[in-house]
Amino acid sequence: MAAKLIDGKVVSAKIRGEIREAAEAFKAERKRAPGLAVVRVGEDPASIVYVRNKLRACEEVGFYSESYELPEDTTQEELIALVERLNNDDKIHGILVQLPLPKHIDEARVVAAVAPEKDVDAFGKLDAGHLCLDEGNVLPCTPAGIMEMLKHYDIMVSGKECVVVGRSNIVGRPMAALLLAADGTVTIAHSRTPDLGAVTRRADILVAAVGRAGLITGDMVKPGAAVIDVGMNRNAEGKLCGDVDFDSVKEVAGYITPVPGGVGPMTITMLMRNTLYAAKTSAK
Ligand code: NDP
Repeated sequence: MAAKLIDGKVVSAKIRGEIREAAEAFKAERKRAPGLAVVRVGEDPASIVYVRNKLRACEEVGFYSESYELPEDTTQEELIALVERLNNDDKIHGILVQLPLPKHIDEARVVAAVAPEKDVDAFGKLDAGHLCLDEGNVLPCTPAGIMEMLKHYDIMVSGKECVVVGRSNIVGRPMAALLLAADGTVTIAHSRTPDLGAVTRRADILVAAVGRAGLITGDMVKPGAAVIDVGMNRNAEGKLCGDVDFDSVKEVAGYITPVPGGVGPMTITMLMRNTLYAAKTSAK
């Protein structure tokens, strides 16, 4: 293997240690812990795992947490009523509504119902606007976690060719904004990009956030590039795998993230960091 492994667990453990210490100091001063409410609707198997991991992380860093597991047939009004109740709950500094929501619920309306100061996913329009203007304090968790990993491994972004594959509001677009803010030269590729390989081969830093197992193969990667795999897919055997064909890409890349153990733990760590920030900046 030529590429160096970017270990999300190692970087996460270091940052979670810092968050735990900060949470202790917060508790000593404010006589309460930073509090996160996690809301899940329905029985999506991936969401069940993500929510469980987020609650475990709260425990690990010493946060107070509440978990709401609502049935699939919960109405939009019922969900928004819960969010509004949590908006007014002083024990709760951050609210996370696990996406995707069942089809009968308008996700944008629910995201918009979360009070901006409790929007620890940073999916709301206010945070998105701040991010575009390079003024964000609370950043979307997955891209923020990727920036921390690049920093930890001393991978310079300034002046580098950065290619982000995927343009979702939760990963691709905010990722591109953060790389741009760090002075990268950024290209966003998507499903209408002809000849994806010609674009990805330019990248010194390549982020794949698509949701297609093995889309990025070794011949699509510039030798020595840092390759960040956001994808969380199940292969034919039901095994978790990313968007990057690890075996062929590791022979070409300079750095590579594994799946699992790369971006995933960092996403949750950044959720903890955003919750801590929301707690520290709250008057309650
Ligand atoms: P979306 O489905 O919202 O977006 C996927 C993007 O990929 C779209 O912009 C789409 O283009 C693009 N795309 C689809 N097919 C191709 C293709 N053949 N070539 C180039 N681009 C393509 O997904 P998300 O951004 O929400 O998630 C992406 C992946 O990351 C998923 O596997 C998800 O599970 C995972 N994920 C992992 C997280 C983690 O913590 N590790 C956190 C969040 C997500 P278009 O816009 O044109 O349709």
